[in-house]
Amino acid sequence: MREMTYEKLCEVIRETGKPYDMDMIARAYQVAEKAHGGQRRRSGEPYICHPLCVAQLLVELGMDSESVAGALLHDVVEDTNISLSQISREFGPSVALLVDGVTKLTKIEFSSLEERQAENLRKMLLAMSQDVRVMIIKLCDRLHNMRTGDAWPEQKRRDKALETMEVYAPIAHRLGISSIKEELEDRSLYYLDPIGYQHISEQLAQHDDSFLENICQVVRRHLEDNGIHNMIIKSRIKSVYGIYRKMYMQGKEFDEIYDIYAVRIILDTVAECYTALGLIHDMYHPIPNRFKDYISTPKPNGYKSLHTTVIGHETVPFEVQIRTREMDQNAEYGVAAHWKYKAGVTTRDKLDERLAWVRQLLESQQENGDVDELLQGIKSDLLPEEVFAFTPRGDVINLPAGATAIDFAYAIHSAVGNRMIGAKVNGHIVPIDHKVSTGEIIEVVTGPEDKGPSRDWLKIVKTSEAKNKIRSWFKKERREENIQEGRAALERELRRNNIRIPPEKWDEIMTELARRQHTNGVEEMYAAIGYGGLLVSKLMPKLKEEYQKLKVVEVKLTNAPIPTTHSSEGVVVEGVDNCPIKFAKCCKPLPGDEIIGFITRGFGVSIHKCDCANVKAAQENPENNGRFLPCRWEKNDRETYKATLEITAMDRTGLVGDIAVSLGDMRVPIYSMNAREGDNGRALINITLGTTNIEHLNSVVAKLKKVRDVISVVRV
Ligand code: MN
Repeated sequence: MREMTYEKLCEVIRETGKPYDMDMIARAYQVAEKAHGGQRRRSGEPYICHPLCVAQLLVELGMDSESVAGALLHDVVEDTNISLSQISREFGPSVALLVDGVTKLTKIEFSSLEERQAENLRKMLLAMSQDVRVMIIKLCDRLHNMRTGDAWPEQKRRDKALETMEVYAPIAHRLGISSIKEELEDRSLYYLDPIGYQHISEQLAQHDDSFLENICQVVRRHLEDNGIHNMIIKSRIKSVYGIYRKMYMQGKEFDEIYDIYAVRIILDTVAECYTALGLIHDMYHPIPNRFKDYISTPKPNGYKSLHTTVIGHETVPFEVQIRTREMDQNAEYGVAAHWKYKAGVTTRDKLDERLAWVRQLLESQQENGDVDELLQGIKSDLLPEEVFAFTPRGDVINLPAGATAIDFAYAIHSAVGNRMIGAKVNGHIVPIDHKVSTGEIIEVVTGPEDKGPSRDWLKIVKTSEAKNKIRSWFKKERREENIQEGRAALERELRRNNIRIPPEKWDEIMTELARRQHTNGVEEMYAAIGYGGLLVSKLMPKLKEEYQKLKVVEVKLTNAPIPTTHSSEGVVVEGVDNCPIKFAKCCKPLPGDEIIGFITRGFGVSIHKCDCANVKAAQENPENNGRFLPCRWEKNDRETYKATLEITAMDRTGLVGDIAVSLGDMRVPIYSMNAREGDNGRALINITLGTTNIEHLNSVVAKLKKVRDVISVVRV
């Protein structure tokens, strides 16, 4: 290897074409050169080569003049008689701070992450949170030391490699600097498991990767033919350590790893990325379940890209990574992209975002002050060890260590998570908060579609993916609750004002009303009423006006006075008028059953049978005191009335059944029903049913109109 010189560094700086402060860099070099004087490295080369190489790494990362000067000076305070105050005088306080920070970091030793090292790690995080450039210089320093580690004695190699693997590579990963992270890992592995390293290198050498070049050309031509220009296409081979992890930790064979070979396509816009993805899937056969959209759901360290794995004509699977230029720079340089593109896209906010985890770690430790928890926090955040479990079908699910069965369920699909009621590991039932271990076969036991997650899960799950999916379920659910609440409130107010809008006019009037309120549709209007953003009283004048226009002729039920208070579903909740109710799905009470009401958080009162197991369980919980209400069936002491409806519908098999089911859902008693063939493939169905009042009948009519193929429903 050619010895590193100052001239070489200057050449590298010139090649960047960026306006570096060459005066400061030259002075830093002179001070360092003089201070290290006759010192030599263990390898025999002059010591100054080391800071020069570290400085070169920083230039390549795109770091600024102060960082380069700091790199040149990073060992002088530790190893020579130059003082920090001298550096501060000659180069200013920022450079002095960088040198001081790196010097302090160098003194911290982590032979392993034992408890006593937690305090050291905390110091390091603190230094990093003050100026992240300190850590970037330290990472480059470590990288160069690892590159030249062959000169170290065996024990020192292993110690440094372990420390690099446990502390520095994870930090590089969290800072998003993938180029440095990968090289640190590969070089550490080389010292920690030389045989495993060699084994993989040999297998890589055996495989002919020249097909990748061909693929790059074919892909470029196809994208250009489809109007995508100005692209960069690179091919890439997975790092040795990346392959090692999959082989030795996931127990895969070399040939079972699908992303050893990758083609990276770098484009101008996000839209082009998705277009290119479609084009790639046209060209090559995609492997199922291998598509990852890290653009819509970025990785925790901010990584964004589209990944898909396809099989080429050579039958070798390869990964295709598609991303924009900005995403690519961020993936390669991470935090450093802030300096590299200072004038361009990356802002201070993004840098802060990337460092937020450091501050969070420090803050959470200050709050609880518990060393154990502190160490756990550092370990789980800095050592994002992964576990790999299988679905019964054999799909691999990748999770961070400590993830639970719930995380597993949400990693499969949000619908699976939302329906989860239990889990089986290797055939045995486990608690829902079971911590997933590598190699387990996990079967998620699901309940009914509308089961939904529990709020407690937010405290149990480990992945942000699961957290987000649970939160979004509740957000969406609350919206539904708001809509129901809003509609119920509107209906109450209409009744209070004696306004009866015929069901067939309801949608039309409400749509117009929503338009006048500038809400985005009727549901949004209901939701706005539901959460209190829109006052029902504000809507009444307009509704009264509409009502007058309609001149609704009230259909009088034969000899039927309209009851003043009631519940349209046929249940009276004692002490509550017109309370929205729903029938519990667990025990499905029917008229005649002894029933009880339970005040739900979202939707009014749910009606259970008195002997329902859920009721008994809930009554034992003191939190539910006062949430139970006595209820009775309305028809027990109120008359029902017979009414006959004629339904016209397009005839089809199952029509009568659907109508009967619809009536059954509303618990409407059917006294008689006959169907006959009409003209033009239509069916006419006459139904005599029991109803309590006109409003109830109107709701029945509205519901029947929603049955598929029903054309009209009229009273006869
Ligand atoms: Mn050094």
